[in-house]
Amino acid sequence: MTDTQSSLSSPALTDARALELRADFPILSQQVHGKPLAYLDFGATAQRPQAVLDAELEFLTRHNSAVHRGAHELAALATGDFEEAREVVAEFVGADFDEIAWQAGATDALNTVANGIAAASRGRGGAASAPLRLGAGDEILITEAEHHANLVPWQELALATGATLRYVPVNDRGTWTIDDLRPLVTDRTRVIAFAHVSNVTGLIAPVAEIVELAASVGAITVLDACQSVPHRPVNFHELGVDFAAFSGHKMAGPNGIGVLYGRRERLEQLPPARTGGSMIEIVTMAETTFMAPPTRFEAGTQPVSQAVALAAACRYLSAIGMDAIRDHEEALGARMVAELNAIEGITVIGNDASVPRSGLAAFIVDGVHAHDVSQYLDAASIAVRAGHHCAQPLHRRLGVTASTRASSYLTTTNAEIDALLEAVSGIRSYFG
Ligand code: PLP
Repeated sequence: MTDTQSSLSSPALTDARALELRADFPILSQQVHGKPLAYLDFGATAQRPQAVLDAELEFLTRHNSAVHRGAHELAALATGDFEEAREVVAEFVGADFDEIAWQAGATDALNTVANGIAAASRGRGGAASAPLRLGAGDEILITEAEHHANLVPWQELALATGATLRYVPVNDRGTWTIDDLRPLVTDRTRVIAFAHVSNVTGLIAPVAEIVELAASVGAITVLDACQSVPHRPVNFHELGVDFAAFSGHKMAGPNGIGVLYGRRERLEQLPPARTGGSMIEIVTMAETTFMAPPTRFEAGTQPVSQAVALAAACRYLSAIGMDAIRDHEEALGARMVAELNAIEGITVIGNDASVPRSGLAAFIVDGVHAHDVSQYLDAASIAVRAGHHCAQPLHRRLGVTASTRASSYLTTTNAEIDALLEAVSGIRSYFG
């Protein structure tokens, strides 16, 4: 837990408090199909509270300008806001400010790592990049449950370098444990990339054990923190991972911005995957030298108002308390899993008491396609996600093409879960 997130435990997030917080989110006050909206699609994108919307508007109204360039007053103000935002976000995730590089999103950040390793493997970055070089016979380890954002870049890296991509298989429930992963770690493992929290099963990965295993063979760890940073206290220094990625839009912040975290020495070893303006030191017609991290990873004009708004989101979430948000969502998640699974013909993916899980539940309705399920729920003003959730291999392994996912956040109440459960109970007879 970071200072921003407060080391004292926060007041519990009760239903009454969640309802109060709901009033902070203008979009949630709308009626949909003539009824109050039950928004249970936070795992796809979270809504933004007024404080976050205001912070971006305030910046755009008063300070907007290009950062790190002009010598004029607005440029100085904008640069100050931009770098202060970096400090706030760094503190939120237990990192130093120069270990945080702005990216377009988590997908972008994961590509920056994979493409940077590909560049290192081609010899870019000179001696500094040597620890990150891959070649034939080296192994990259992921899991079968990864979001495509943490799967396809590693496939591409394997193709580019001749390394082998290996994966931890999931069981019939869609989950895996450290005992499944351990035998796949060899002295050729160079990268272990995995989701902190699965966006389909909600499984919370055993990060400490994986970091220890990686260290024992000299591999680096890459954490997809897209579904963890928004929903629970996360401290990258304490977790000990080498790289991590998350997106602003999933944490009550804006889209178009995400974060690459890298341990300082790892960022120094990673060559930039994107080059151009803003990230250079000296450019001649023969060659270019790059700035130190994190600027080296921030080519081109940066998402400045989004960075300011993301910092506002971190402040907003911290004021509520990430521990309280985690506890609230985990209780809702456990309830959804138990009660959805008890409905005849409904199977929750990742329903496995032996693994810890977060506040979402993806489920399959016997005989009804997930898109029909979500349309049926939409008619009851319940917004959920339907599809493969960018995890085709996991769904294929479970023998389905799609599932329906309900995901909670700080505004979610038990009344919304009641509405979901009631609607889901009627689906099979409706589609008869
Ligand atoms: N990883 C996980 C676990 C996700 O849930 C998502 C988004 O759904 C991503 C990565 C990709 O995030 P983005 O699309 O914001 O880059």
